[in-house]
Amino acid sequence: MSEACLFCNIAAGNIPSQKVYSDEHIVAFRDISPAAPQHILLIPRKHILSVAQLEDEDQALMGHLMLHARKVAEQEGFAESGFRCVLNTGDDGGQTVGHLHLHLLAGRGLSWPPG
Ligand code: 5GP
Ligand code: ZN
Repeated sequence: MSEACLFCNIAAGNIPSQKVYSDEHIVAFRDISPAAPQHILLIPRKHILSVAQLEDEDQALMGHLMLHARKVAEQEGFAESGFRCVLNTGDDGGQTVGHLHLHLLAGRGLSWPPG
């Protein structure tokens, strides 16, 4: 854990969050400022800055994270109506928190392309 990192502290339970799923590898919790009726963040417990820093050793972890996007979508009841998975990466990608996170957005029709 990176002690200064907001999402490491959320994963560790040092900062409160509305968790919807957690296991030994990942945590899913509700976004504090939802951009859709359903907005959940999935993060690895391992501190990885972004997709741009992924290593070969992270392959299984990222597969686990992606698979649980589907499982959380089913658990929360929006797997059938549809959802969007987003991994903002770096400055131009709009990333504001430096711990890799997958946005799971649902509950309304989402426009494309993003701004
Ligand atoms: P990014 O802009 O890096 O792709 O996404 C960061 C997300 O984290 C934003 O949607 C923002 O609302 C969310 N966020 C920032 N701080 C907190 C927090 O303290 N708790 C929770 N639950 N979400 C946060
Ligand atoms: Zn972190």
